[in-house]
Amino acid sequence: MDASFQVEPIHAFNDNYIWCIRDHATAAIVDPGDAGPVFKYLAKEKLHLSAILATHHHADHVGGIAALASVHPVPVFAPFDDRISAVTHPVGDGDLVELPVFNIALQVLEIPGHTRTHVAYYGANLLFCGDTLFACGCGRLFEGTPMQMHASLTRLAALPDETLVYCGHEYTLANLRFGLTVDPGNAALRAWEREATEQRSLNRPTLPSVLAREKQANPFLRCEDPGVAARASREARTALSNPAEVFAVLREWKNRF
Ligand SMILES: [Zn+2]
Repeated sequence: MDASFQVEPIHAFNDNYIWCIRDHATAAIVDPGDAGPVFKYLAKEKLHLSAILATHHHADHVGGIAALASVHPVPVFAPFDDRISAVTHPVGDGDLVELPVFNIALQVLEIPGHTRTHVAYYGANLLFCGDTLFACGCGRLFEGTPMQMHASLTRLAALPDETLVYCGHEYTLANLRFGLTVDPGNAALRAWEREATEQRSLNRPTLPSVLAREKQANPFLRCEDPGVAARASREARTALSNPAEVFAVLREWKNRF
């Protein structure tokens, strides 16, 4: 990673990660669902807040924005959506969010499915994807169709293999268990489960994940794999060939898992 900045997790609620892009003096915050832990982190690390980014309107991702912005009047980047308050810079597909302090620019990708206005931020080998792509999983479909979510995940999967995936929740172990049910012969999944189990036993985040591994192991990115399609077909009791249909069955199956 570029030596001029690092990305650190700030824990919030049960299993949310608020991501902090920082150097020795300055921070930008992604998805501050709660202001309290962010205020605490900034004070402890003696960091000056320079920007806030949000991926989607859910309270556990934006609930802290107003309180943070009232103390730190910084640019707030978020999708065009009336349900997010205190936004100074509404963003849409193809926009660039410049973070000059860290010498990085993040590209905005519209990735509907979890919600209809969900965006991701990608650049400098980092992907902040909120509740769309999770480590070995994906978000629930609250406002979008399976076809939309499948298209959004396919778009993220097309990013470079070395991309680091910073998603919004620590759901990895549960996702790996589901992944192994769908794809029990997948050696990459078994190796990942061993590693993630060790990390969680030490109370360490399993994130970021690496996109290459997601493509090898995440069933929701492997809907074209014949084995995954066959397993989804058995579950649905009908022969599925279209990857978006396979995705829809996996997503519904995971809801019941
Ligand atoms: Zn959400």
